[in-house]
This record gives sequence, structure tokens and C-alpha cells, in this order.
Amino acid sequence: MKLDNLTNRMFPSQSLEESLKQFFGYDSFRPGQAKIIEEALQNRDLLVIMPTGGGKSLCFQLPALLKPGLTVVVSPLIALMQDQVDTLLDNGIGATFLNSSLKSEEVRSRERDIIQGKIKLLYVAPERLLNDKFTPFLDLIVQKIGISAFAIDEAHCVSEWGHDFRPEYRKLKQLRQRYPQVSMLGLTATATKRVREDIVQQLGLRQPGIHITSFNRPNLYYDVQLKERRSYNKLLKYVRRQKGSGIVYCLSRRSVDEIAFRLQNDGIEALPYHAGMADETRALNQNRFIRDDVQVMVATIAFGMGINKPDVRFVIHYDLPRNLEGYYQESGRAGRDGEAAECTLFFSLSDLKKIEYLIEQKTAPQEQKIARQQLRQVVDYAEGTECRRTIVLRYFGERFAGNCGQCDNCRDPKPIEDWTIEAQKFLSCVARCNERFGITHIIDVLRGSKRSKIEKNGHHLLSTYGIGKDRSVAEWKMLGRSLIHQGLLDETSDGFSVLKLNKKSWEILRKQRNVEIAITQKAPTKVLGEYNQNAVEIELLFDRLRKLRKQLADSNQIAPYVIFADSSLKLMAQLKPKTIAEFAKISGVTDYKISQYGDRFVSEIRSFCQEQAPPNPLPTQSNMITLQLHQQGLSTREIAEMRGLKESTIYSHLSELIEMRQPVDINQFVLPVKQDLIIQAIKKIGDYALTPIKEHLGDNYSYNEIKLVRAWYRRKNQ
Ligand code: ADP
Ligand code: ZN
Repeated sequence: MKLDNLTNRMFPSQSLEESLKQFFGYDSFRPGQAKIIEEALQNRDLLVIMPTGGGKSLCFQLPALLKPGLTVVVSPLIALMQDQVDTLLDNGIGATFLNSSLKSEEVRSRERDIIQGKIKLLYVAPERLLNDKFTPFLDLIVQKIGISAFAIDEAHCVSEWGHDFRPEYRKLKQLRQRYPQVSMLGLTATATKRVREDIVQQLGLRQPGIHITSFNRPNLYYDVQLKERRSYNKLLKYVRRQKGSGIVYCLSRRSVDEIAFRLQNDGIEALPYHAGMADETRALNQNRFIRDDVQVMVATIAFGMGINKPDVRFVIHYDLPRNLEGYYQESGRAGRDGEAAECTLFFSLSDLKKIEYLIEQKTAPQEQKIARQQLRQVVDYAEGTECRRTIVLRYFGERFAGNCGQCDNCRDPKPIEDWTIEAQKFLSCVARCNERFGITHIIDVLRGSKRSKIEKNGHHLLSTYGIGKDRSVAEWKMLGRSLIHQGLLDETSDGFSVLKLNKKSWEILRKQRNVEIAITQKAPTKVLGEYNQNAVEIELLFDRLRKLRKQLADSNQIAPYVIFADSSLKLMAQLKPKTIAEFAKISGVTDYKISQYGDRFVSEIRSFCQEQAPPNPLPTQSNMITLQLHQQGLSTREIAEMRGLKESTIYSHLSELIEMRQPVDINQFVLPVKQDLIIQAIKKIGDYALTPIKEHLGDNYSYNEIKLVRAWYRRKNQ
């Protein structure tokens, strides 16, 4: 794909892929990017909707570099601007931002750079952009160097229907009026149709190309853990088994402080973050997280909006989120770099009760209704037994075929059993208690509990008293929840959670309907896959490279991920490039990065490889079989016949075994005098090729003998 010369004056003969590699070091585009960039190069207005981590920034950054003039990026948060500009600068790209955090001399010097054409991307807050003092400067830019595009990041802020409305975004329409010739792109991760329409209208986009990328995030693993009494221990175990950075979301400030404190006490590097903390402390904690000084951020949902950290490896919701959109966005802060990451929800019924109670306190009935509906969707997700990804995507109006293999329900599908009889017992107990009690009480009656509440209500006299002793409390609870979840039983949500029979419950009682439930076993603890030697080595080198990256980041005062993404480090650990030329092939490595960091990384990899060098490799399976037969006293010919192999192959096995220090006695095969002479020949000629040694020694020596002695020689000289 070649670009036409009009739009691409700077690199007329370069393909988009080549430009991608040149500026950003990536080998291929993410889904949607190429098409969007092509349209941006044709100066079309665009609306880009991509999930978090989809790679929105590139959609305006690459065109900005390929088009003449300056691209102005509107961004709502100072932290975000800083982060993007750092990343661009570390790719050797002229970028800067203007916002209220800068002193006036600094602003002037940056403005000068812009007018001199040193800058390709300028990040500004919306309030500054439309300020009366700033517009003359914009006019000057247009006149001197031209504006190639306005990119409106987080464009949903323009909509009252979004979750993050900012009135100053509304004024952005003025840009369109003042600079009608400049193309405009809106970018957001917000999925709803209402917001999309609003963006087009409020920004005044002209017949925009609309690009909606799937909200599926294939690199995220979704799972739900039951939160029980010892839930903190579960959390701790979970965090301990993680290596990279993670976020633990809690509902209240108090629990943020508490969990952060407990994790610290248990030796985890964790910090709290919530709106109740002083601004400086909060900013400091955030920065320490971004720079990998600490591993875990325990936070309320106030944390994350402005965080671009691409290498968050896990996001845990320790408390139940209030709606699924929120859950999707928050958990979506994991794995923006496209590498594997985990999203885990801790779910408990008592949390559910707490939220129901809070909803109950709302006074507006409409608000209550919406909140209940939203909560219902979260519970459907948490208690659902089908593919979690399917549930989430359905919420965004996307159909997904299920069976993703990347969620707990797909990995360990819960067995389905027929529990019709148990359901009849359960429901008839609900009926006999006059539909006035909650699940705990019903289970007490079924299991013949001696609690005073039972006798007080005369429930020890019911025919259903004690008929369910054969099942545990947990099993009855699982049944009760499943009945509710499947709509076979109702539960009031007025804070008392009383069980009520519905039409379907009666059908079950009348034996007109069967009940199947998913048996939710104890969540199996995931064991780390059995590592082979190679995987361990990769892991070790990855750790070393991470440390090096951290060191370099600290001395340059930037975030580690600005230097290289995790994915690049992982590739380095796998491919172990030992020269700059090999290093350059790694995805994410640009010429600029090579000039800045190439030597350091390559020499780290080299010294790692040297340390690992004298491998004591394990014999292959085939070698082992030969060894066993040899130890049983079989001759080489017998082994060869038995295994249907050539005798020379068996000699090769034995040679390899000798070299690997396995118990094969060379004296059994070659006379000691002969050994000495072969070794002398090797010393003279070298041990690489057999033929010259054989030619030197003459007909009295066989290839097999030479092979064995050479192995013996190598073993001694390792
Ligand atoms: P978004 O703004 O959509 O959440 P970003 O633009 O921050 O996502 O991109 C997320 C991460 O993906 C960044 O680390 C970015 O460098 C990386 N990325 C973007 N495009 C590509 C690509 N084509 N190949 C590899 N990595 C990419
Ligand atoms: Zn799945």
C-alpha cells in the first residue's frame, strides 16, 4: 500500500507498515488501525470507538507524523498528556503539551518550538484551546505551519449521556467553525449508541468515517471467585502468585486503607489511593505505581481514569461493582499492551445485600429502578455459568459464540445435574414458611437446625423440617441461588430478601418442570503450568530485563513502560538477541530506541546467556532408552536390532550420553591406548569434524570409536 504524494510528502515511497516500524517499532497494525489511518490521511472526519488498550492513540499519532503541519490533541487530563508526550519523546518524536502546570517561560519556549515546526503533536486541555488568548496563537500556527488535524481524545466527555461529562468539551464545536478546513477525529472507549450519536453531533463531525472495533479483549482472562469468610487470605494468595503490577478495587475508602495496610504487613508492596487522601499523597502514590516502585495499587474507582499504564497484569474487584459497564471499563485497565492479563471479580452474597441496601436508600424511584437493573446484570455475570466473555459482550450488543477458553467458565465448565427433587423440597419449604423468610432460614428448616428462631415460629413442626440433612448448607445455598438466577424463584430486593414463589416455582412443585443446576465446585486453584527448563530461563531473563528497564527509567525519570513494553521484553527473553542487528528485529524496537538503549539490553542478554551457558542438558527420551538397554548388558548391535535403528545411531546416542555425564563406560568400547592416540589427534586437528581425524588416524580406527572418544574428550574439557 503506497500513499499518494499529496498526503505523504515526507516519506513518499514508504508503506504504512514501514512507517509503523520506523516510528513505533511495531510490525503490524492492531484491528481497525490501518483503515482508520488511511482515512485520516485523506483528511476525513472520523469517529473512532475502540476498547481500552485497542490502540487509539496510534490512529492520530501516525497520521500526524505523515502529514505536514501540526496535529492538535485535546485531552482532558494532565497526567494523560504527560504520559503520552513522554512516550512520544522517547520514540524521538517531536511532541509537547501546554497546560496549567507550566510556568510562563516554559510555555513561551514551547510555543516557539511549535512555530519553528519542531513539534508534530501538541496536547492541550480543552479550556485552554478555546481561551481568547490562545486562539490568536492557533491562527498563527495555521498561517505558519498549518494544522493537520484536531484529535479529540476521550470524546465521550462531550456527551451528557456519558459517564464523564465535561462542559468545556461542548465548546469544541467552535474549532470546526473557526477552522472548517481542518479535519477532526473523536476517539473514545465508551460503547453506547446514544453517546456515539452525541459525539458526532456535538463536535459537528462532517460525514465522519465511523469505526467501531469489537469490544472483545482476547488477551484478558475473566474469572469470578467466591468471596467467603477468609477472603483476604484468598486475595493475598492471588497477589503473591502474580509477578507484574495490579490494581485491587474496593468499594469504600475504609476498605482501601485496610486492605492496603494488610497487604503491606504481609510483605506486598502496595499503596492506597482514594478521593479522601491529600492530593500530593495521591499523586505520589500514583506515580510510584506507574514507575513500578510498588506492585499493587489498592484503590476506589476514582483511580484509573487518567492512568495509561499499559502493563497492568491483573485487576481484582474485591467488592461487587455496581454495573457491568463500570466493571468492563475498570477491569479493562488490565493488559492494554495486549499481553495476557487477568480480571478477577470477588463475589459474595453479603456484598450483594449491602448494595441492595444502598439502592433502597435512593429516593427517586426511577433511579432505584435503573440501579436495580444494573445490579441484576452484574449478578447475572457473577453467577452465570456460560462463557463470561459472551455475557459481557452481549451487554455491549455484540454477539459472541462462546467457548472463549479464556474464562473460568470455559476452562472448567461446571457440571450440570438434575436437582428436581431437591428443588421440590426447597420450594415446598418456602411455601410452608408462608413465603415470609429468606434463604438462610429455609435452609435451617430443611437441615433441622435447633436455632431458637425455628422453634419460635413453630417451624420445627413442619413436614419439611429436617428433610434436607443429606445436603450441606453450601449445597442448598447453591440450589437456592441457582433457582433465583434462573427465574424459578423470586427474592424481594427491599433489604430483607424474602423468598417468594412464582409461576415457574409452582410448575416445579406440580412436577411439570425439571430443574437442572450447574454444580459450582470450589474454584480450583490454578496451578502454574509445569515449566520446562526453557520457560524457566525465559522467565529469569525477563526478570533481569525488567530490572534493567527499571534502572534506566529511574535515571531518566520516566515510567519503565515508556522505554519498552512488556511484550518487547518478553520477546527479548525468548529470542535472546545477541547483536544489535538481531535486537532491531524485536517488535517495539525502533532505531531511536536502539541508539538509546540497544547496547545496554544486548549486553545484559549476552551476559545472561554466558552465565547460563554450561547447560547440563537432559538426555532425550531416545537416548535414555539406549542407556537403559546398555545398562542391562546389551551390545550395541543388539540394541540397534531391538530398536530398529542403525548401529551407528546407537553409537551416536552413547556419545551424547557420555558427553552429558551419563554412566557409560568408554573403556568397554575403546582400548585405552587407542583412546590416547585419538585424543592426541583431536588436540592437533580440533574436535569439530570427524573425517579429518579419521583420515589422520587411518583404517585402524572406526568412526564409532572416534565419536565416543571425542565425546569423552569434550566432557573432560567442558
Ligand atoms: P487506548 O488509548 O486505545 O486505550 P493506547 O493507544 O494507549 O490504547 O494503546 C495501548 C497500548 O498498545 C500502548 O502500549 C501502545 O503502544 C500499544 N499499541 C498500539 N498499537 C499497537 C500495534 N499496532 N502493535 C503493538 N502495540 C500497539
Ligand atoms: Zn469464556
